[in-house]
Amino acid sequence: MNFKESLPDTDSHFDSLTGLYNSEAFYKEATLLLKDCKDINYNIVCLDISCFKIVNDLFHMETGDLILKTTADYFKATLNPRTSIGCRAEADHFILCIPSDELNIEKIIHDLDERIQSLHISHHILFFAGIYPIDKRDLGKLPISQMYDRSRLALQRVKGSYQTRYAYYDSEMRDKMIDELMEKKNLELALRERQFTIFLQPIFNPRKNTVVSAEALVRWIHPVHGMISPGKFIPACEDNGFIVQLDRFVWEEACRLQRRRLDEGKPIVPISVNLSRLNFYSNDLPEFLSSLVEKYKLETWMLKLEVTESAYTDNRLQLLDMLSTFRSLGFTVLMDDFGAGYSSLNMLKDMPLDTVKVDMAFIRELEKSKRVAVILKFVVELAEELKMGIVVEGVETQFQRDYVASLGEVAIQGYFFSRPLPIRDYEAFLDKFLLIKGDDSHAVN
Ligand code: C2E
Ligand code: CA
Ligand code: CA
Repeated sequence: MNFKESLPDTDSHFDSLTGLYNSEAFYKEATLLLKDCKDINYNIVCLDISCFKIVNDLFHMETGDLILKTTADYFKATLNPRTSIGCRAEADHFILCIPSDELNIEKIIHDLDERIQSLHISHHILFFAGIYPIDKRDLGKLPISQMYDRSRLALQRVKGSYQTRYAYYDSEMRDKMIDELMEKKNLELALRERQFTIFLQPIFNPRKNTVVSAEALVRWIHPVHGMISPGKFIPACEDNGFIVQLDRFVWEEACRLQRRRLDEGKPIVPISVNLSRLNFYSNDLPEFLSSLVEKYKLETWMLKLEVTESAYTDNRLQLLDMLSTFRSLGFTVLMDDFGAGYSSLNMLKDMPLDTVKVDMAFIRELEKSKRVAVILKFVVELAEELKMGIVVEGVETQFQRDYVASLGEVAIQGYFFSRPLPIRDYEAFLDKFLLIKGDDSHAVN
């Protein structure tokens, strides 16, 4: 493959000093290259020259230029033009797109150091590198510019150190960096920068084959690290108190979505939102929720509230009071993760609740355990006796779906029907589903 032919050789694609691609052209070329070489493991490598700015300041510009040209010449001479490409990005940053079996980073750094030393500049100049080994699952999804960002993050880890001259952005480094993001100030910044968004997971009535509601689930899409799992950041947000702000953001996003669909004359189903236990320390919680519903001119049935057992163990009287207030305002209250903790039955006994959501740990074991089947059956009966609704979470297989559907009027949430969807996909799903069903019973204008 001659990838250089894909772009016309006009000046606008090349860096005038070094003759290498500029970053814009590099992103385009690398995208094409990766598309054509799906079976090869590639890396995006970012190379940076230490103290380049000082060299430019101390010596003449020509010295800096000479270093850059020497570096570029090395790449021109050594990169295999059939499989690899390089560019000069900004200032003293070079980027390579190179197959793993052609990448010998220690040799590159060593050779470059040597070439620069042979220029006899009386300043110690070192090269540092950050490498992003491209995950095949990211191909076609993650733009090259973001892969470059990842390699740069790896580079920042080693820049200025004398022992280590390169680092890989791999899952270990990603996890470490994500750990560091869990401080409240970083989370607040992420919220301001709109890195959080909601996904929606439809909930079904399998007997009637209708969508009965959806759950709003928060997602953190970091500009460099990509999607960060709620299993990771929710516990951190609960520890440092940020969850209160985050939950309120999610509730508002859910209301905003409902309002927009109503304005567009489209049908809606109620959206369930999660209320972390820390919310119950704010006395203004019921007021906040009803003012939100008012702000978006919604009715309270359009928002459902999911509460877990951990809220119950904190301050029972206060919780009882609040849940009663929610219900008197017209909100539906669901008990989330039923059966997962120690006091699920106590909570059921004491608290005013409308619906039970059975924790997915039960359904997980349905195929393996007769006992689980019996427990599920009794939980459904229990809910029916108590005149409560019931949702079974985590339904992934036909077998699980059929068993749960055989138990009674049970709603189902799980990958079998749908994964949590980005807003746009959720809307397309809802439109299609309600259209096919001809079910416009939820349409409210
Ligand atoms: P949850 O409230 O029990 O939410 C259901 C979780 O189960 C979601 O995980 C959902 O993606 C996942 N799930 C749904 N169906 C299936 C299935 O068939 N199989 C499997 N394996 N998983 C399924 P997610 O989105 O990762 O959220 C995890 C937890 O994080 C949530 O559990 C909830 O406790 C918390 N969370 C998510 N969003 C929010 C939020 O906005 N506020 C608060 N306070 N917590 C949230
Ligand atoms: Ca939930
Ligand atoms: Ca749950």
